Amino acid sequence: VKIVKIEAVNLKYDVDSPYGMARGLITSRGSTLVVVKTDEGLIGIGETWGGGSPSVEHINQVSSFYQDQDPFDRDILLKKAMNSMYHLGFGGLHIAALGGIDMALWDLMGKSCNQPVSKLLGGKSRDKIMAYASTGYITETSSPLELSKQIENAMELGFKAVKIKIGINPESDRERVKLTRKIAGKDVLILVDSNGNYKRESALKSAQMIEEFDIHWYEEPLSPEDIDGYRYLKERTTIPLAAGEALFTRFGFRNYIENGLIDFVQPDLSKCGGFTEALAISNHAHSRNLNLSAHVWGTAVGVAAATQFMAYLPIHPHTLHEPSPILFEYDTSLNPLRTDIIEEGFIVKDGYIEVNDGSGLGITLNNDLIKKYAADGSSVLAF
Ligand SMILES: [Mg+2]
Repeated sequence: VKIVKIEAVNLKYDVDSPYGMARGLITSRGSTLVVVKTDEGLIGIGETWGGGSPSVEHINQVSSFYQDQDPFDRDILLKKAMNSMYHLGFGGLHIAALGGIDMALWDLMGKSCNQPVSKLLGGKSRDKIMAYASTGYITETSSPLELSKQIENAMELGFKAVKIKIGINPESDRERVKLTRKIAGKDVLILVDSNGNYKRESALKSAQMIEEFDIHWYEEPLSPEDIDGYRYLKERTTIPLAAGEALFTRFGFRNYIENGLIDFVQPDLSKCGGFTEALAISNHAHSRNLNLSAHVWGTAVGVAAATQFMAYLPIHPHTLHEPSPILFEYDTSLNPLRTDIIEEGFIVKDGYIEVNDGSGLGITLNNDLIKKYAADGSSVLAF
């Protein structure tokens, strides 16, 4: 099998009103798909973090490493590309671009063998994955009423776990968590995320103010660069810590995992270097008995990829009873790039996302909708 063409498709959806996190709000959702075609006519799909022409340029730039190559050589090709560009470091849009291509190659390998990616990774350990509603977004007003509506919506959809944004200040964190616990009840898992908006003192104060509400994890209390801050916080709070959405490759995660600075490791498949690097990160986390929960904030392609990856994750150290189920991030905001651009759709029921058993990622792009949301008029119909 030989790769004959790689194309980037830049997608964009303008949101009705801005929402986001403590660091800032967004006015649109965007991402870049990668479509890889082989000489046998197979098409593999991947997703690269970030929309806009810079992502497309990066994909075009790194494509030369893959031209006329065998998709089954994906690890050799990835390392060759990374090492050829080592002056740029192992992070940023070129790594995301390589990860998007890697994702498409796994899709191709699965299609070529008629197997889901989970099987290629090592086997499928579960048919459905407990999902948490990623919600409770910060808005321009961030009113209690808006937060209430988001939590109530998640409860109506059947989720047994919710993640809310915090990080404006510790007092506001307490109010948001208290309200969430009140609406969700005592049995729902509550996760919080400040997107690294704090320094160590304010992060500790925030953790102390919400500790009594039984927090399942505190995500990115500090900036990803603040390794010492994570160590400081880890020694002082009982809340499990999570991070990884802003880290790249196995090298970016190494310090966090080896030093036990986080309890939940969160690689994003569209950013960290695709399945190939996520697998290395997962194995490293596994060796330290840490939890892994992929970060998912993209289109249906990224959701499908994360589903395959999480379905593979071996149940460890358990055989039968899993005291703390692995958690799948399911963003519940309105985003047709997540819900509409594939033919199959996702089944999220009673707080679980079902695992698709189709070949590769198990999805087919809807070309009409890709065309509709293509930011620059590009389309996979070029194939
Ligand atoms: Mg986050």
